[in-house]
Amino acid sequence: MARAYNFSPGPAMLPESVLLEARATMLEYGDAGASIVEISHRGAEFIDIAARAEADLRELLAIPADYAVLFLPGGATTQQALLPLNFAAPGQRADYVLTGHWGATATRQAAPYVDLNVAASSEADGYRSIPPVDQWKLSKDAAYVHVTANETIHGVEFRPSKPGGHAFPDTGDVPLFADFSSSIASEPVDIPRFGAIYAGAQKNLGPVGIGVVIVRRDLLARAGQPRADIFDYRLQLAADSMLNTPPTWNWYVAGLTFRWMLEQGGVEAFARRSDDKAGLLYAAIDGSGGFYRNEVDRAVRSRMNVPFFLHDPALDEAFLAQAREAGLIGLKGHRVTGGMRASIYNPMPLEGVQALVDLMQDFQRRHG
Ligand code: PMP
Repeated sequence: MARAYNFSPGPAMLPESVLLEARATMLEYGDAGASIVEISHRGAEFIDIAARAEADLRELLAIPADYAVLFLPGGATTQQALLPLNFAAPGQRADYVLTGHWGATATRQAAPYVDLNVAASSEADGYRSIPPVDQWKLSKDAAYVHVTANETIHGVEFRPSKPGGHAFPDTGDVPLFADFSSSIASEPVDIPRFGAIYAGAQKNLGPVGIGVVIVRRDLLARAGQPRADIFDYRLQLAADSMLNTPPTWNWYVAGLTFRWMLEQGGVEAFARRSDDKAGLLYAAIDGSGGFYRNEVDRAVRSRMNVPFFLHDPALDEAFLAQAREAGLIGLKGHRVTGGMRASIYNPMPLEGVQALVDLMQDFQRRHG
């Protein structure tokens, strides 16, 4: 099989040019005389790679100077545990807003360390909406408010730029923390609205194994809780995210991906492309006369992850088989929800989504 259109939720599709460059440097990086995976993180080559990656990410996301950028091993779940350790006093209140599976995961990582308050949750409606902000029960003395910008499994996204979409709340003096794992760099984000933004890389930023934390520097003055050095954001920042041996390969490929996104026109370009791709797919679902359905409140439908169900789940396996035959992979929905899910991150071209829509229509003609 040639390279397919890969709709996997993460690890996810990467741009072919990034993979080709990574392949080329797998054997020898520049004139280092060794592979990129064989050279020291303390050497001039990698120090340069790390600095470029940060500079490019800062340009891509328009990260202001008063925000620090950390590149840390592991995924988003790790950061979900480190946020309370770094920014909440022991047992201090922290507010969490649950709009899907990953918000709930974040509460489980934080629960041992904070007085956890679920300020709002759409669990009762199967995570198909975002509760209106005026119904959130926020605490005045919270260390922070945590939201999930895009829920990768349930396909629910805060949509600050969409008329009628759900904006991020103004939380006043309490900093807003957001898990942007599955939507970072897909549209401009007003960083100063947030105290911290974090993301695992394996959706829009590169390969799995590394995460990015963007945090307002003044928050790093908080004492947080007793923790090992390796869990301390302040110490990581002082060590340029190299308190220990960092995941150099992942960092390098993430850097290639940042560069690719800049070359493609940056987040404004990806915002337009994402709207086009998601628009095409939702139109196909909504126009199928019920053969396919997406159940999320239209105002907060995700542009990145489009979950959908066939009207008869008995057809799921046949759909996936025909998709694979047509060169479309990674469409099986998460085990929590079942059904299908198309993840359409930045590297997925419009042609890939058109191929999926063509397949859906052909499948419906055969089975409708
Ligand atoms: N948050 C979100 C929004 C996610 O999509 C994921 C992974 N799918 C996670 C957190 C967990 O990330 P990781 O597996 O990198 O820890």
